Amino acid sequence: MSTLALGSLIPWLSVLSVETIQMSDCAIELHVSSTQPTAACPLCAQPSGAVHSCYVRRLADLPWAGIPVVIHLEVRKLFCRNDACPRRIFTERLPQLTAPYRRQTQRLWEQQRHLALAHGGEAGARTALQQGAPASAKTLVRRICHAPLSPTPTPRCLGIDDWALRKGQSYGTILVDLERHRPIDLLPDRSAETLAQWLRTHPGVEIITRDRAGDYADGARQGAPEAVQVADRFHLVQNAHQVLHRLLERHSRGMREAARTVNQQHTQIDPAHVTQAVVDGEISPSPPAALAAASDGSPPARPLSKYQQHQQARRARRYALYCEVQRLRAAGGGIRYIARQLHIHRTTVLRFLAETFPEQAARSKRRSKLDPHLPYLQAQLRAGQDNAMQLWRELRDAHGYRGSRALVSRWVAAHRALCPPRPASRPRPGAPPQSPAPKLPPRFKTPSVRSAAWLLTADTASLDEDQAQFVEYLSVRFTLRGEAIRIFGAGFWRKYRRLYLEQR
Ligand SMILES: [Zn+2]
Repeated sequence: MSTLALGSLIPWLSVLSVETIQMSDCAIELHVSSTQPTAACPLCAQPSGAVHSCYVRRLADLPWAGIPVVIHLEVRKLFCRNDACPRRIFTERLPQLTAPYRRQTQRLWEQQRHLALAHGGEAGARTALQQGAPASAKTLVRRICHAPLSPTPTPRCLGIDDWALRKGQSYGTILVDLERHRPIDLLPDRSAETLAQWLRTHPGVEIITRDRAGDYADGARQGAPEAVQVADRFHLVQNAHQVLHRLLERHSRGMREAARTVNQQHTQIDPAHVTQAVVDGEISPSPPAALAAASDGSPPARPLSKYQQHQQARRARRYALYCEVQRLRAAGGGIRYIARQLHIHRTTVLRFLAETFPEQAARSKRRSKLDPHLPYLQAQLRAGQDNAMQLWRELRDAHGYRGSRALVSRWVAAHRALCPPRPASRPRPGAPPQSPAPKLPPRFKTPSVRSAAWLLTADTASLDEDQAQFVEYLSVRFTLRGEAIRIFGAGFWRKYRRLYLEQR
Protein backbone atom coordinates (compact mmCIF):
# COMPACT_ATOMS: atom_id res chain seq x y z
CA MET A 1 0.00 0.00 0.00
CA SER A 2 1.43 3.36 -0.93
CA THR A 3 2.14 5.86 1.83
CA LEU A 4 -0.27 8.30 0.19
CA ALA A 5 -3.16 5.83 0.26
CA LEU A 6 -2.29 4.77 3.80
CA GLY A 7 -2.10 8.43 4.89
CA SER A 8 -5.72 8.98 3.96
CA LEU A 9 -6.70 6.01 6.15
CA ILE A 10 -4.27 6.72 8.99
CA PRO A 11 -3.78 10.47 9.35
CA TRP A 12 -1.22 10.21 12.19
CA LEU A 13 1.75 9.08 10.11
CA SER A 14 3.70 12.19 11.18
CA VAL A 15 4.03 10.77 14.71
CA LEU A 16 3.50 7.06 14.04
CA SER A 17 5.01 4.41 11.85
CA VAL A 18 3.01 1.41 10.70
CA GLU A 19 4.94 -1.80 11.32
CA THR A 20 2.52 -4.43 10.00
CA ILE A 21 -1.08 -4.71 8.83
CA GLN A 22 -2.85 -8.04 9.35
CA MET A 23 -6.13 -8.45 7.50
CA SER A 24 -8.73 -11.14 7.97
CA ASP A 25 -12.48 -11.37 7.28
CA CYS A 26 -13.40 -10.35 10.80
CA ALA A 27 -10.74 -7.77 11.76
CA ILE A 28 -7.92 -5.57 10.49
CA GLU A 29 -5.05 -5.27 12.96
CA LEU A 30 -2.47 -2.51 12.69
CA HIS A 31 0.75 -2.63 14.66
CA VAL A 32 2.09 0.91 15.00
CA SER A 33 4.69 2.63 17.13
CA SER A 34 5.47 6.20 18.05
CA THR A 35 8.20 8.03 16.09
CA GLN A 36 8.35 11.13 18.29
CA PRO A 37 11.99 11.75 19.24
CA THR A 38 10.98 13.32 22.52
CA ALA A 39 7.77 13.68 24.52
CA ALA A 40 6.67 16.39 26.95
CA CYS A 41 6.06 15.56 30.62
CA PRO A 42 2.33 16.05 31.32
CA LEU A 43 3.07 17.89 34.60
CA CYS A 44 6.00 20.19 33.86
CA ALA A 45 5.85 20.07 30.02
CA GLN A 46 9.61 19.61 29.79
CA PRO A 47 10.54 17.40 26.79
CA SER A 48 12.38 14.18 27.51
CA GLY A 49 13.92 11.48 25.31
CA ALA A 50 15.12 9.19 28.12
CA VAL A 51 13.19 5.97 27.54
CA HIS A 52 12.25 3.93 30.60
CA SER A 53 10.27 1.12 28.93
CA CYS A 54 7.63 0.34 26.27
CA TYR A 55 4.19 -1.20 26.36
CA VAL A 56 1.38 -1.83 23.89
CA ARG A 57 -2.05 -0.16 23.99
CA ARG A 58 -4.96 -1.69 22.14
CA LEU A 59 -7.22 0.90 20.49
CA ALA A 60 -10.36 0.37 18.45
CA ASP A 61 -10.56 2.57 15.36
CA LEU A 62 -13.11 3.41 12.68
CA PRO A 63 -13.97 0.30 10.64
CA TRP A 64 -12.64 -0.10 7.10
CA ALA A 65 -15.51 -1.07 4.78
CA GLY A 66 -17.47 -2.44 7.71
CA ILE A 67 -14.54 -4.50 9.04
CA PRO A 68 -13.50 -3.61 12.62
CA VAL A 69 -10.02 -2.10 12.95
CA VAL A 70 -7.78 -2.62 15.98
CA ILE A 71 -4.60 -0.58 16.46
CA HIS A 72 -1.83 -2.12 18.58
CA LEU A 73 0.07 1.01 19.57
CA GLU A 74 3.50 0.71 21.09
CA VAL A 75 4.08 3.68 23.41
CA ARG A 76 7.07 4.56 25.54
CA LYS A 77 7.50 5.46 29.16
CA LEU A 78 10.06 8.18 29.70
CA PHE A 79 11.96 9.69 32.60
CA CYS A 80 11.21 13.29 33.48
CA ARG A 81 14.60 14.97 33.97
CA ASN A 82 13.20 18.06 35.69
CA ASP A 83 14.29 17.82 39.33
CA ALA A 84 11.53 20.18 40.46
CA CYS A 85 8.80 17.97 38.89
CA PRO A 86 7.10 15.47 41.20
CA ARG A 87 6.56 13.04 38.27
CA ARG A 88 9.55 10.73 37.72
CA ILE A 89 8.22 8.55 34.92
CA PHE A 90 5.51 9.42 32.43
CA THR A 91 3.90 7.89 29.36
CA GLU A 92 4.16 9.79 26.10
CA ARG A 93 0.91 11.40 24.96
CA LEU A 94 -0.43 11.18 21.40
CA PRO A 95 -3.30 13.67 21.49
CA GLN A 96 -3.79 13.41 17.71
CA LEU A 97 -4.59 9.73 18.11
CA THR A 98 -6.30 9.27 21.46
CA ALA A 99 -6.59 10.50 25.04
CA PRO A 100 -4.92 8.85 28.07
CA TYR A 101 -6.59 5.65 29.32
CA ARG A 102 -8.99 5.60 26.33
CA ARG A 103 -9.48 2.34 24.47
CA GLN A 104 -10.56 3.84 21.17
CA THR A 105 -9.15 6.47 18.86
CA GLN A 106 -10.37 10.04 19.10
CA ARG A 107 -12.18 9.80 15.75
CA LEU A 108 -14.06 6.64 16.77
CA TRP A 109 -14.95 8.28 20.09
CA GLU A 110 -16.40 11.27 18.23
CA GLN A 111 -18.29 9.10 15.80
CA GLN A 112 -19.86 7.23 18.71
CA ARG A 113 -20.90 10.53 20.25
CA HIS A 114 -22.55 11.66 17.01
CA LEU A 115 -24.29 8.30 16.76
CA ALA A 116 -25.53 8.56 20.35
CA LEU A 117 -26.78 12.11 19.87
CA ALA A 118 -28.62 11.15 16.68
CA HIS A 119 -30.03 7.74 17.67
CA GLY A 120 -29.81 7.43 21.45
CA GLY A 121 -28.54 4.35 23.30
CA GLU A 122 -30.25 1.18 22.05
CA ALA A 123 -30.86 2.28 18.46
CA GLY A 124 -27.35 3.71 18.29
CA ALA A 125 -25.88 0.41 19.50
CA ARG A 126 -27.72 -1.50 16.75
CA THR A 127 -26.47 0.96 14.11
CA ALA A 128 -22.91 0.79 15.46
CA LEU A 129 -22.93 -3.02 15.27
CA GLN A 130 -24.19 -2.88 11.71
CA GLN A 131 -21.44 -0.40 10.78
CA GLY A 132 -18.69 -2.65 12.14
CA ALA A 133 -17.81 -0.66 15.25
CA PRO A 134 -19.84 -2.35 17.99
CA ALA A 135 -20.55 -0.36 21.16
CA SER A 136 -23.06 -1.01 23.93
CA ALA A 137 -26.00 1.31 24.56
CA LYS A 138 -24.49 2.31 27.91
CA THR A 139 -21.23 3.23 26.24
CA LEU A 140 -23.05 5.46 23.79
CA VAL A 141 -24.97 7.19 26.57
CA ARG A 142 -21.67 7.73 28.38
CA ARG A 143 -20.34 9.45 25.24
CA ILE A 144 -23.17 11.99 25.54
CA CYS A 145 -22.52 12.49 29.25
CA HIS A 146 -18.80 13.11 28.66
CA ALA A 147 -19.25 15.33 25.64
CA PRO A 148 -17.89 18.82 26.26
CA LEU A 149 -20.58 21.45 26.75
CA SER A 150 -20.79 24.26 24.27
CA PRO A 151 -19.97 27.59 25.91
CA THR A 152 -23.06 29.54 26.90
CA PRO A 153 -23.09 33.32 26.74
CA THR A 154 -24.24 35.17 29.84
CA PRO A 155 -28.00 35.69 29.40
CA ARG A 156 -29.68 39.07 29.42
CA CYS A 157 -32.84 37.65 31.03
CA LEU A 158 -32.09 35.09 33.72
CA GLY A 159 -34.70 32.85 35.33
CA ILE A 160 -33.85 31.47 38.78
CA ASP A 161 -35.66 28.68 40.56
CA ASP A 162 -34.89 25.89 42.95
CA TRP A 163 -34.89 22.20 42.03
CA ALA A 164 -34.83 19.16 44.25
CA LEU A 165 -31.94 16.75 44.45
CA ARG A 166 -34.13 14.95 46.95
CA LYS A 167 -37.55 16.45 47.50
CA GLY A 168 -38.00 17.96 50.94
CA GLN A 169 -34.35 17.37 51.83
CA SER A 170 -31.79 18.99 49.56
CA TYR A 171 -32.25 21.58 46.86
CA GLY A 172 -30.09 23.24 44.25
CA THR A 173 -30.69 26.22 41.99
CA ILE A 174 -31.34 26.10 38.27
CA LEU A 175 -30.48 29.06 36.07
CA VAL A 176 -32.33 29.43 32.78
CA ASP A 177 -31.67 31.69 29.83
CA LEU A 178 -35.19 32.95 29.28
CA GLU A 179 -34.54 34.30 25.80
CA ARG A 180 -33.05 31.07 24.47
CA HIS A 181 -35.31 28.90 26.69
CA ARG A 182 -32.36 26.81 27.89
CA PRO A 183 -31.06 25.88 31.31
CA ILE A 184 -27.49 27.15 31.50
CA ASP A 185 -26.22 26.18 34.93
CA LEU A 186 -26.99 24.34 38.14
CA LEU A 187 -25.87 25.64 41.50
CA PRO A 188 -25.29 23.18 44.36
CA ASP A 189 -27.57 24.96 46.85
CA ARG A 190 -30.11 27.78 46.99
CA SER A 191 -28.23 30.22 49.16
CA ALA A 192 -27.86 33.93 48.44
CA GLU A 193 -24.05 33.71 48.53
CA THR A 194 -23.81 31.02 45.83
CA LEU A 195 -26.13 32.94 43.53
CA ALA A 196 -24.34 36.22 44.16
CA GLN A 197 -21.01 34.55 43.38
CA TRP A 198 -22.33 33.20 40.07
CA LEU A 199 -23.74 36.59 39.10
CA ARG A 200 -20.43 38.29 39.89
CA THR A 201 -18.57 35.89 37.61
CA HIS A 202 -21.18 36.33 34.85
CA PRO A 203 -21.72 40.10 34.55
CA GLY A 204 -24.27 41.42 32.07
CA VAL A 205 -27.56 40.03 33.41
CA GLU A 206 -30.19 42.76 33.04
CA ILE A 207 -33.41 41.10 34.19
CA ILE A 208 -33.76 38.42 36.85
CA THR A 209 -37.03 36.59 37.29
CA ARG A 210 -37.41 34.57 40.46
CA ASP A 211 -39.86 33.25 43.00
CA ARG A 212 -40.66 35.35 46.04
CA ALA A 213 -38.10 33.74 48.36
CA GLY A 214 -35.85 36.18 50.20
CA ASP A 215 -32.56 34.35 49.49
CA TYR A 216 -32.73 34.76 45.75
CA ALA A 217 -33.68 38.43 46.17
CA ASP A 218 -30.62 38.95 48.40
CA GLY A 219 -28.33 37.00 46.08
CA ALA A 220 -29.50 38.97 43.05
CA ARG A 221 -29.11 42.25 44.93
CA GLN A 222 -25.56 41.38 45.97
CA GLY A 223 -24.42 39.81 42.69
CA ALA A 224 -26.15 42.02 40.13
CA PRO A 225 -27.38 45.18 41.89
CA GLU A 226 -28.18 46.93 38.62
CA ALA A 227 -30.43 44.09 37.33
CA VAL A 228 -34.23 44.44 37.48
CA GLN A 229 -35.84 41.74 39.62
CA VAL A 230 -39.23 40.37 38.58
CA ALA A 231 -41.51 37.96 40.44
CA ASP A 232 -42.36 35.49 37.70
CA ARG A 233 -45.85 34.62 36.59
CA PHE A 234 -45.59 30.95 37.48
CA HIS A 235 -44.82 31.66 41.11
CA LEU A 236 -47.43 34.42 41.41
CA VAL A 237 -50.09 32.07 40.09
CA GLN A 238 -48.81 29.24 42.26
CA ASN A 239 -48.91 31.42 45.38
CA ALA A 240 -52.41 32.63 44.55
CA HIS A 241 -53.50 29.06 43.99
CA GLN A 242 -52.11 28.01 47.36
CA VAL A 243 -54.09 30.79 49.01
CA LEU A 244 -57.22 29.63 47.22
CA HIS A 245 -56.60 26.08 48.47
CA ARG A 246 -56.24 27.33 52.03
CA LEU A 247 -59.45 29.33 51.70
CA LEU A 248 -61.34 26.31 50.42
CA GLU A 249 -59.93 24.09 53.16
CA ARG A 250 -61.43 26.53 55.68
CA HIS A 251 -64.76 26.26 53.90
CA SER A 252 -65.12 22.48 53.68
CA ARG A 253 -68.51 22.67 55.39
CA GLY A 254 -69.57 25.36 52.95
CA MET A 255 -68.53 23.18 50.03
CA ARG A 256 -70.58 20.28 51.33
CA GLU A 257 -73.53 22.63 51.82
CA ALA A 258 -73.12 24.00 48.30
CA ALA A 259 -73.08 20.49 46.86
CA ARG A 260 -76.17 19.60 48.90
CA THR A 261 -77.94 22.68 47.59
CA VAL A 262 -77.12 21.65 44.04
CA ASN A 263 -78.49 18.19 44.72
CA GLN A 264 -81.66 19.58 46.27
CA GLN A 265 -82.49 21.05 42.89
CA HIS A 266 -82.88 17.45 41.74
CA THR A 267 -84.99 15.97 44.57
CA GLN A 268 -87.51 14.98 41.92
CA ILE A 269 -86.09 11.70 40.70
CA ASP A 270 -84.75 12.32 37.26
CA PRO A 271 -85.50 9.23 35.10
CA ALA A 272 -82.30 9.80 33.09
CA HIS A 273 -80.31 9.82 36.30
CA VAL A 274 -81.87 6.54 37.46
CA THR A 275 -81.12 4.91 34.10
CA GLN A 276 -77.54 6.11 34.22
CA ALA A 277 -77.15 4.82 37.77
CA VAL A 278 -78.41 1.38 36.66
CA VAL A 279 -76.00 1.37 33.72
CA ASP A 280 -73.15 2.34 36.03
CA GLY A 281 -74.11 -0.48 38.37
CA GLU A 282 -74.71 1.98 41.19
CA ILE A 283 -78.19 0.66 41.83
CA SER A 284 -79.82 -2.68 41.16
CA PRO A 285 -81.83 -3.09 37.95
CA SER A 286 -84.56 -4.87 39.91
CA PRO A 287 -86.88 -2.74 42.04
CA PRO A 288 -85.45 -2.24 45.52
CA ALA A 289 -86.41 -5.08 47.81
CA ALA A 290 -88.01 -2.70 50.30
CA LEU A 291 -90.46 -1.41 47.68
CA ALA A 292 -91.22 -4.82 46.25
CA ALA A 293 -91.99 -6.33 49.61
CA ALA A 294 -94.18 -3.44 50.70
CA SER A 295 -96.41 -3.85 47.69
CA ASP A 296 -97.31 -7.54 48.31
CA GLY A 297 -98.04 -7.02 52.00
CA SER A 298 -95.20 -9.17 53.36
CA PRO A 299 -92.87 -7.64 55.96
CA PRO A 300 -90.43 -5.27 54.23
CA ALA A 301 -86.95 -6.67 53.77
CA ARG A 302 -83.72 -4.66 53.98
CA PRO A 303 -82.45 -3.11 50.77
CA LEU A 304 -79.83 -5.10 48.92
CA SER A 305 -76.21 -4.68 49.92
CA LYS A 306 -73.72 -3.35 47.40
CA TYR A 307 -72.34 -6.84 46.94
CA GLN A 308 -75.78 -8.27 46.26
CA GLN A 309 -76.50 -5.48 43.79
CA HIS A 310 -73.25 -6.28 42.02
CA GLN A 311 -74.15 -9.97 41.93
CA GLN A 312 -77.56 -9.19 40.47
CA ALA A 313 -76.11 -6.94 37.78
CA ARG A 314 -73.60 -9.66 36.88
CA ARG A 315 -76.31 -12.28 36.60
CA ALA A 316 -78.38 -9.94 34.41
CA ARG A 317 -75.44 -9.50 32.05
CA ARG A 318 -74.87 -13.27 31.85
CA TYR A 319 -78.54 -13.86 31.24
CA ALA A 320 -78.61 -11.33 28.38
CA LEU A 321 -75.63 -13.13 26.83
CA TYR A 322 -77.41 -16.49 27.25
CA CYS A 323 -80.49 -15.11 25.44
CA GLU A 324 -78.29 -13.81 22.64
CA VAL A 325 -76.61 -17.21 22.20
CA GLN A 326 -80.02 -18.89 22.08
CA ARG A 327 -81.28 -16.38 19.51
CA LEU A 328 -78.28 -16.83 17.21
CA ARG A 329 -78.54 -20.62 17.54
CA ALA A 330 -82.26 -20.51 16.66
CA ALA A 331 -81.32 -18.47 13.57
CA GLY A 332 -79.07 -21.35 12.48
CA GLY A 333 -75.70 -20.05 13.70
CA GLY A 334 -72.91 -22.56 14.33
CA ILE A 335 -70.85 -22.62 17.52
CA ARG A 336 -67.80 -20.99 15.96
CA TYR A 337 -69.96 -18.32 14.32
CA ILE A 338 -71.73 -17.47 17.58
CA ALA A 339 -68.42 -17.35 19.47
CA ARG A 340 -66.98 -14.97 16.90
CA GLN A 341 -70.06 -12.75 16.87
CA LEU A 342 -70.26 -12.40 20.63
CA HIS A 343 -66.50 -12.41 21.33
CA ILE A 344 -66.77 -15.31 23.74
CA HIS A 345 -65.09 -18.69 23.85
CA ARG A 346 -66.64 -21.73 22.15
CA THR A 347 -66.84 -23.50 25.51
CA THR A 348 -69.03 -20.67 26.81
CA VAL A 349 -71.27 -21.00 23.74
CA LEU A 350 -71.62 -24.74 24.40
CA ARG A 351 -72.52 -24.06 28.03
CA PHE A 352 -75.14 -21.49 27.01
CA LEU A 353 -76.75 -23.86 24.49
CA ALA A 354 -78.25 -25.77 27.44
CA GLU A 355 -82.05 -25.62 27.70
CA THR A 356 -81.99 -23.87 31.03
CA PHE A 357 -79.87 -20.88 32.02
CA PRO A 358 -76.73 -22.25 33.70
CA GLU A 359 -76.50 -20.44 37.01
CA GLN A 360 -73.02 -19.68 38.11
CA ALA A 361 -71.67 -22.23 40.56
CA ALA A 362 -71.12 -20.93 44.04
CA ARG A 363 -67.50 -20.40 44.91
CA SER A 364 -65.87 -23.33 46.63
CA LYS A 365 -65.86 -22.59 50.30
CA ARG A 366 -62.52 -21.91 51.89
CA ARG A 367 -61.76 -22.44 55.49
CA SER A 368 -61.83 -19.23 57.47
CA LYS A 369 -60.83 -18.27 60.99
CA LEU A 370 -64.38 -17.02 61.32
CA ASP A 371 -65.97 -20.46 60.73
CA PRO A 372 -66.18 -21.55 64.40
CA HIS A 373 -67.87 -18.24 65.31
CA LEU A 374 -70.50 -18.15 62.56
CA PRO A 375 -73.39 -19.44 64.73
CA TYR A 376 -72.67 -16.70 67.28
CA LEU A 377 -72.44 -13.99 64.59
CA GLN A 378 -75.67 -15.14 62.93
CA ALA A 379 -77.48 -15.09 66.26
CA GLN A 380 -76.20 -11.58 66.97
CA LEU A 381 -77.31 -10.28 63.56
CA ARG A 382 -80.77 -11.83 64.02
CA ALA A 383 -80.95 -10.04 67.37
CA GLY A 384 -80.28 -6.75 65.57
CA GLN A 385 -76.63 -6.31 66.60
CA ASP A 386 -74.75 -5.48 63.41
CA ASN A 387 -71.96 -3.27 64.73
CA ALA A 388 -68.91 -5.01 63.23
CA MET A 389 -66.42 -3.33 65.55
CA GLN A 390 -68.43 -4.35 68.64
CA LEU A 391 -68.83 -7.90 67.33
CA TRP A 392 -65.10 -8.17 66.63
CA ARG A 393 -64.29 -7.04 70.21
CA GLU A 394 -66.72 -9.60 71.64
CA LEU A 395 -65.26 -12.39 69.51
CA ARG A 396 -61.72 -11.43 70.41
CA ASP A 397 -62.26 -10.99 74.14
CA ALA A 398 -64.81 -13.68 74.95
CA HIS A 399 -64.55 -16.27 72.15
CA GLY A 400 -60.86 -16.53 71.42
CA TYR A 401 -61.12 -15.21 67.83
CA ARG A 402 -57.64 -14.51 66.44
CA GLY A 403 -58.51 -13.28 62.95
CA SER A 404 -58.62 -9.73 61.63
CA ARG A 405 -61.26 -7.09 62.23
CA ALA A 406 -61.62 -6.64 58.46
CA LEU A 407 -62.75 -10.25 58.12
CA VAL A 408 -65.54 -9.66 60.63
CA SER A 409 -66.50 -6.39 58.92
CA ARG A 410 -66.72 -8.06 55.52
CA TRP A 411 -68.82 -10.91 56.83
CA VAL A 412 -71.21 -8.56 58.64
CA ALA A 413 -71.53 -6.35 55.54
CA ALA A 414 -72.38 -9.38 53.39
CA HIS A 415 -74.93 -10.78 55.89
CA ARG A 416 -76.70 -7.68 57.19
CA ALA A 417 -79.85 -8.97 55.56
CA LEU A 418 -80.15 -11.29 58.58
CA CYS A 419 -80.92 -8.27 60.76
CA PRO A 420 -84.57 -7.53 61.47
CA PRO A 421 -85.77 -4.37 59.69
CA ARG A 422 -85.40 -1.21 61.75
CA PRO A 423 -88.62 0.54 62.76
CA ALA A 424 -89.30 3.52 60.52
CA SER A 425 -89.16 6.93 62.18
CA ARG A 426 -92.53 7.90 63.52
CA PRO A 427 -94.39 10.23 61.11
CA ARG A 428 -95.47 13.58 62.38
CA PRO A 429 -99.23 13.73 63.18
CA GLY A 430 -101.10 14.87 60.11
CA ALA A 431 -98.20 14.32 57.75
CA PRO A 432 -98.96 12.24 54.62
CA PRO A 433 -97.62 8.66 54.78
CA GLN A 434 -94.25 8.55 53.11
CA SER A 435 -93.28 5.76 50.79
CA PRO A 436 -89.65 4.61 51.09
CA ALA A 437 -87.72 6.21 48.26
CA PRO A 438 -84.89 4.35 46.56
CA LYS A 439 -81.59 5.71 47.79
CA LEU A 440 -79.68 7.11 44.84
CA PRO A 441 -76.09 8.21 44.88
CA PRO A 442 -75.90 12.02 44.95
CA ARG A 443 -76.02 13.49 41.49
CA PHE A 444 -73.38 16.09 42.32
CA LYS A 445 -70.65 14.90 44.68
CA THR A 446 -68.83 17.40 46.87
CA PRO A 447 -65.64 18.15 44.95
CA SER A 448 -62.22 17.95 46.55
CA VAL A 449 -60.41 21.17 47.39
CA ARG A 450 -58.31 20.77 44.27
CA SER A 451 -61.36 20.22 42.03
CA ALA A 452 -63.22 23.09 43.67
CA ALA A 453 -60.25 25.40 43.04
CA TRP A 454 -60.31 24.26 39.43
CA LEU A 455 -64.05 24.99 39.17
CA LEU A 456 -63.64 28.42 40.74
CA THR A 457 -60.95 29.43 38.30
CA ALA A 458 -62.31 27.70 35.20
CA ASP A 459 -63.90 29.57 32.37
CA THR A 460 -67.59 29.86 33.33
CA ALA A 461 -68.66 28.78 29.85
CA SER A 462 -66.92 25.42 30.30
CA LEU A 463 -68.90 24.51 33.45
CA ASP A 464 -72.00 22.37 33.29
CA GLU A 465 -75.22 23.40 35.02
CA ASP A 466 -74.42 21.73 38.36
CA GLN A 467 -70.85 23.02 38.47
CA ALA A 468 -71.99 26.55 37.65
CA GLN A 469 -74.58 26.40 40.46
CA PHE A 470 -71.96 25.10 42.87
CA VAL A 471 -69.56 27.91 42.00
CA GLU A 472 -72.34 30.48 42.21
CA TYR A 473 -73.40 29.24 45.62
CA LEU A 474 -69.84 29.23 46.96
CA SER A 475 -69.12 32.64 45.54
CA VAL A 476 -72.29 34.32 46.77
CA ARG A 477 -72.90 32.55 50.04
CA PHE A 478 -69.34 32.25 51.25
CA THR A 479 -67.88 35.21 49.37
CA LEU A 480 -64.78 33.23 48.45
CA ARG A 481 -63.90 35.60 45.73
CA GLY A 482 -64.58 38.48 48.10
CA GLU A 483 -62.03 37.09 50.55
CA ALA A 484 -59.48 36.60 47.84
CA ILE A 485 -60.01 40.16 46.70
CA ARG A 486 -59.54 41.42 50.23
CA ILE A 487 -56.28 39.50 50.53
CA PHE A 488 -54.75 40.48 47.22
CA GLY A 489 -56.30 43.90 46.66
CA ALA A 490 -59.05 44.93 44.25
CA GLY A 491 -58.61 43.76 40.70
CA PHE A 492 -56.25 40.93 41.57
CA TRP A 493 -58.83 38.22 41.36
CA ARG A 494 -59.73 39.14 37.80
CA LYS A 495 -56.07 39.28 36.86
CA TYR A 496 -55.34 36.02 38.65
CA ARG A 497 -58.11 34.27 36.78
CA ARG A 498 -56.73 35.49 33.49
CA LEU A 499 -53.19 34.50 34.40
CA TYR A 500 -54.36 31.15 35.64
CA LEU A 501 -56.30 30.43 32.48
CA GLU A 502 -53.31 31.44 30.36
CA GLN A 503 -51.10 29.19 32.45
CA ARG A 504 -53.32 26.24 31.73
ZN1 LIG B 1 7.89 16.53 34.68
